[in-house]
Formats: sequence, C-alpha cells, structure tokens
Amino acid sequence: MTGETMTTPILSVEELTDLVTAIFESRGMAPADARTVAGVVVAAERDNARSHGLQRMPGYVSSMDCGWVDARAEPRVEQRTPGLLAVDAGNGFAQVALARARDRLVGIAKQNGTAVLTIRNAHHFAALWPDVEPFAAAGFIALATVNSRSLMTAWGGTRKVLGTNPMAFACPRLGAPPLVWDQASSTMSQGDVLLHRAAGKRLPPGAGIDRAGQATTEPAAVLDGGALLPFAGVKGSSVAFMVEILSAAFGGGTFGFEDRSAALPGAVTSQSSQFLLLLDPAAAGETAFGARVEALLAAIAACGSQRLPGERRYAARQRAATAGIAVDAVVLDGLRAFCSTGAPRAPR
Ligand code: NDP
Repeated sequence: MTGETMTTPILSVEELTDLVTAIFESRGMAPADARTVAGVVVAAERDNARSHGLQRMPGYVSSMDCGWVDARAEPRVEQRTPGLLAVDAGNGFAQVALARARDRLVGIAKQNGTAVLTIRNAHHFAALWPDVEPFAAAGFIALATVNSRSLMTAWGGTRKVLGTNPMAFACPRLGAPPLVWDQASSTMSQGDVLLHRAAGKRLPPGAGIDRAGQATTEPAAVLDGGALLPFAGVKGSSVAFMVEILSAAFGGGTFGFEDRSAALPGAVTSQSSQFLLLLDPAAAGETAFGARVEALLAAIAACGSQRLPGERRYAARQRAATAGIAVDAVVLDGLRAFCSTGAPRAPR
C-alpha cells in the first residue's frame, strides 16, 4: 500500500529527524554528522519538497552499504587564499563538509565581505536550498551550485552528459524569512521523474528523451538510458555547464560525466562537487541593502506576481510544525527496518 490514507502515520519533525538520524548512525556515521544529513532529508519532507525527501533514503543507505560513500569520512578544510576555503569531503556527504567549514567561512565573509567555498570528493543527494538558507537567515547573500552525475543532455545533444546541476540563491530580508530560490538545470529534477514513475504518471512534454534521443513522456524511458532536457533549451544547458565549471573544475572535483556510480551495484548518489559564494552586505557598506531588497519585492508584488520562490516551502514548514509530517506506513516500516539492518557502528 502506498499513498496517504486515513491511517497514514503522523510524525513530528523531531521524531522523524531522530529516526533518520538513527539510520545514518547505524551505518557508522558520527552522531552530529548523522543529524546534519538527516536534517536536510527531513527538511525536504517537512517543506513538501519531496523529490529530495524520504524517497531518497534507500539510495543513501545502499550507497553507504556498498562502500560508494564513506559514512565515516572526515572532511579536510584548507584555506587556499584569504578568501577561499577548499574542502576535501573524503568521499563523504557534502553537507558534513559544509558543516565543518561553516564557521570559518562566515568569519572570512565578515572580515572580507566575500568568501568562497569549494567542496570536492563529496556526495550531494539533496535539495540545495538547505545549504544557502541558513546563511541568508544570518544576514549574508548566498549563491551555491552543485553538480550531479550526468543525467541531462546539452545544447541539442541526444545523450546525457551534464548533471541536472542545481543552483540556489538566498537573500536576507527585512522582517521576513530569506528569499530563496533553488532550481535544477533540467526542466525537471530526477527526483520528480522518480515520483512520477512511482505514481504511474507521465512526464510533461519536453522533460526528457529516450535512449534513442527521441522525445518521451515515459519516466522509465528517461531513467533507463535516456536523458532529461535542460530548462529553456540552450539556456538551461549553459547554466548546467557553468555549474560544472564552478563546482568541479574550479574546486578540483569530478564532472558529472566522470561519475562512476554505474559501475558499482548499489551506488546511487552522485560524486559531486559544490561551490558556495557568500557576500556580506554590511561589509560592503550597503546600509540600505535591506530596504532596497524590500523595494524590489514590493515592485514585483505590484506587477501581479502571486508569490515568491520559497513561500510554498515556508507555508508547508509552518503546517508541519503544528500538524506534523504524514509518512506513508510502508515507507515508515522501511525506515525502521533500515535501523535494524545497519552495519554495526565502528568505534571512531
Ligand atoms: P522547482 O521547479 O520545483 O522550483 C524551482 C524554484 O522555483 C523554487 O525555488 C520554487 O519555489 C520556485 N517556484 C516554483 N513555482 C513558482 C511560482 N509559481 N512562483 C514563484 N516561485 C516559484 O525545482 P526543480 O524541480 O528545478 O528542483 C527541485 C530540487 O531538486 C531543488 O531543490 C534542487 O536543488 C534539487 N536538485 C538536486 C540535485 C542534486 O544533485 N543534489 C540535482 C538536481 C536538482 P518553492 O520551492 O517555494 O515552490
């Protein structure tokens, strides 16, 4: 049985976070790191960004169990220049690497007005907004990119070569949660294709091509040797290219087409690289920054725009805080089973 029913279990955000944390810990991850990665999975479910929520857990688990991801990885943070931190994630999850670098990065941004972070040798299997939103909540403008294994074609191509490479932007606001947008370079993220397949739904036209390079609306044809299409044609392709350059070439990481997950059964996560830029409006001497942002948003509201990016998620977050998160009973059983089938935790 799948899908929400009258008897669908409801968990609080904290209960679900504890459960998902326990799964990562069962694979040998240190408790704080497990909570960091669990936090982004649950945040996606909480914010109704389900393409990167609980449906990803089997992929996280199998990637750790088959040795593709090192759950015990210890990231190495290196300051390359006064404004540039480079992290080797040690084949662990990118969110753990970001957590290790966060305080130093903020310190650099406060001192210099700008700070750049690169993360290589990592796995990013999540939405990107959880990486940037906290920085904007702390007063910084944040821009992040991450590349994924190749899932998308490029500039009129007929086979996958680029990642679905998302880009996220977060900007502080006066008296309101940050404005955050986060979007894949493809018309649709692979996670949404998986959700369509699970629901037996066809994709919208223009989302993908099959292994012969022909347009298809069949999720399985895209996933089985086909490719996603970039958003807005050549424009999305150019953005994905830029993301590969910023994330992988600049940071010394792996391009999407170089990912070798297909050679290892159970390897589901992408070997990713990440780029993050922080700007401090205060350090730049822009005392009117907040008011300027609000003036632009007021003008946008006046043009008839119905909502801002991120507002749908914030509304879902509020609902989850009071009503909890509905988790399909079969999915919940699967999560609990992961805890009991985990490899014994090794001493750290
Ligand atoms: P969507 O197309 O669902 O949304 C893109 C952005 O547009 C969001 O910020 C969304 O805000 C905003 N938006 C959507 N509709 C409106 C509207 N009517 N008015 C104003 N704003 C709107 O995202 P994608 O499918 O492109 O990507 C989904 C996720 O997949 C992302 O979180 C991305 O990071 C992730 N991803 C991760 C990858 C990885 O390798 N880790 C690879 C590719 C994608 P809101 O959320 O409020 O609706």
